[in-house]
Amino acid sequence: MSASSTPESPLIETPERIALRRAVGDLGRRYGSSYFLARARAGEHTDELWSEAGKLGFLGVNLPEEYGGGGAGVYELSIVLEELGTVGCPLLMLVVSPAICGTILARFGTEEQKRAWLPGLADGSRRMAFAITEPEAGSNSHKLSTVAKRDGADWVLNGRKVFISGIDGADAVLVVGRTEDARTGKLKPALFILPRQTPGFEYRPIPMELLSPERQFQVFLDDVRLPADALVGDENAGLQQLFAGLNPERIMTAAFSLGVARQALNTAVDYAKTRTVWDTPIGAHQGLAHPLAQCAIEVELARLMMRKAAHLYDAGDDLAAGEAANMAKYASGEAATRTVDQAVQTLGGNGLTQEYGLAALLAATRVGRVAPVSREMILNYVAQHTLGLPRSY
Ligand SMILES: Cc1cc2nc3c(=O)[nH]c(=O)nc-3n(C[C@H](O)[C@H](O)[C@H](O)COP(=O)(O)OP(=O)(O)OC[C@H]3O[C@@H](n4cnc5c(N)ncnc54)[C@H](O)[C@@H]3O)c2cc1C
Repeated sequence: MSASSTPESPLIETPERIALRRAVGDLGRRYGSSYFLARARAGEHTDELWSEAGKLGFLGVNLPEEYGGGGAGVYELSIVLEELGTVGCPLLMLVVSPAICGTILARFGTEEQKRAWLPGLADGSRRMAFAITEPEAGSNSHKLSTVAKRDGADWVLNGRKVFISGIDGADAVLVVGRTEDARTGKLKPALFILPRQTPGFEYRPIPMELLSPERQFQVFLDDVRLPADALVGDENAGLQQLFAGLNPERIMTAAFSLGVARQALNTAVDYAKTRTVWDTPIGAHQGLAHPLAQCAIEVELARLMMRKAAHLYDAGDDLAAGEAANMAKYASGEAATRTVDQAVQTLGGNGLTQEYGLAALLAATRVGRVAPVSREMILNYVAQHTLGLPRSY
């Protein structure tokens, strides 16, 4: 379904994908926004939804069939997140567990790592968080200072991470460190699978003003000792591994934003059709109708860019997918921010009540502007790589 209630055309999307949209929407509607927000308010997880989505094959739809996945692509996984978001259940961990971690392990993990993790990530019985952001480095990943040193056959990790989502519900964290001296300025990342119970690994929730069952954590790594096989794949392929996760991450963040935007738009349109304070429903006033129409157009444009990015990525063109995924993430974040703002305005006072669940989305839309890469860093990317302009930093 598009932002309105028009069915998707089979000329744009295959019947299988349209059927997947419907099936995911049917599952999500059984839970809905009131379930999702109640869990968030109680500080609880949405485990039933996660595990049902896993059993139905939605979580691992992008993972290889031989490891329990659906053998489809990030396109299909973006459908899962977008449709769950549209009915009020935007599961942020879909961006992390199957999209980033699942992709990296499927493409670069050793045979043992794939067997150990992919079936569980696919059926929802196991989850993995992803930790790259550091307090000092922020958007500048060249400044990452989490260091992994060899000690005999083991690795010993030291460092700090921040804003890491969903650690409390994860079995392990995929940690991005570096094996070389942090002061060289050149990033040579190395990725490690760090089980949550490992000694020396601590995590504390960050008090956030986001209403989400998936919380963010500060991470402390103090002499964390890991066996040799905790290193993902080949030590020299860290940069490739990291890049492999970036496009799915951006495409999925676009899906997160677009689900939230569609939920808000649908709520606002339904409300505007019936709420009457003069002689006509408020939706007849162009002061409300036109901004909502603009939002519908912007959401639909962003969805097209997201599909282009997913199509390029699934077809194996990582480079072209990079530009499209950045543009899709940017466009979706902007469309969602404007759409939720307009939806809240459309509902008047009800836009701020818990009953309609829109005010909670105001903060959620900002996530799509900041993470995993900010809108400014995407504009930097497009300025430099698409337009060939010089770099300021
Ligand atoms: C809800 C949420 C969930 C998250 N989940 C995860 C997770 O699971 N794992 C993880 O690793 N990280 C996660 N993050 C972290 C996220 O990826 C970072 O917040 C993001 O990369 C920005 O880094 P920063 O917050 O340090 O901002 P900073 O890098 O400090 O940036 C601050 C501001 O400066 C601007 N800026 C910086 N450099 C430039 C420049 N060169 N030109 C123009 N403007 C610039 C930025 O655009 C931004 O507006 C999450 C964040 C949030 C909010």
